[in-house]
Amino acid sequence: MRIVRFQLEGREPARGILDNDDQVLSILGDICGQWAPSGERHPLASVRLLAPVQPPNILAIGLNYRGHAHETGHAIPSAPVLFIKATTAVIGPDQPIVLPAAAPDEVDYEAELVVVIGKKARNVSRQDAASHILGYTCGNDVSARDCQLRLDSQWARGKSFDTFAPLGPWIETQVERAGSAIRARLNGVTVQESHTSDLIFDVADLVSYLSHQMTLLPGTVIYTGTPSGVGHAREPNIYLRPGDVVEIEIEGIGVLRNPVVAES
Ligand code: ZN
Repeated sequence: MRIVRFQLEGREPARGILDNDDQVLSILGDICGQWAPSGERHPLASVRLLAPVQPPNILAIGLNYRGHAHETGHAIPSAPVLFIKATTAVIGPDQPIVLPAAAPDEVDYEAELVVVIGKKARNVSRQDAASHILGYTCGNDVSARDCQLRLDSQWARGKSFDTFAPLGPWIETQVERAGSAIRARLNGVTVQESHTSDLIFDVADLVSYLSHQMTLLPGTVIYTGTPSGVGHAREPNIYLRPGDVVEIEIEGIGVLRNPVVAES
């Protein structure tokens, strides 16, 4: 099942589920609890998709693919490397990533599988992790490398500028247990290509580990880390520029597409 948040011209944001991948059935209620169809139906092409969740927290994991740890010169971590992104950074499909005036020069993309928590989780075992997950979406962990790696002693600013947390296009509740291909395209050229089975700490590991550190409220999202091929690790470096288009594609979920603009 695919869960969307959407908006019709002049109406409040609403929730729906996709039917046949080209119709949106509006639903009423709590997507993490009780909900039912409202009876309204709209062609997908007639609605504006929003970020599929408004998370109470955005948790993110660094260095969770061997290839990315290697390309950045880091050892394979012995426990998940946790950081947090500001919730004000969330944008949805087709909304622009804004290169911030405060740090416009070294903004990079990161394709990531994102887990959406459906049921409050605290001290959950690996075996029980799945029952606390609502589903999965595509994420781009947009990062200002100058702030993250050179100017600041920690990552909060470089990972949290407005628009630096694209999510979407929807929440897919069923994904292939064996994993999915994950890729990033910049202006149509594939720049990251891997498979979620290559995660060092898998989804169950992460939900269990994080739930032993803090309460995971419904709607919490977990960016699970990016594979190799980020712009900062390339020779020469590739950074996002106004007019670029970034696409994050995860097999079985969909494509999250965002254009890039300068801050006006
Ligand atoms: Zn990341």
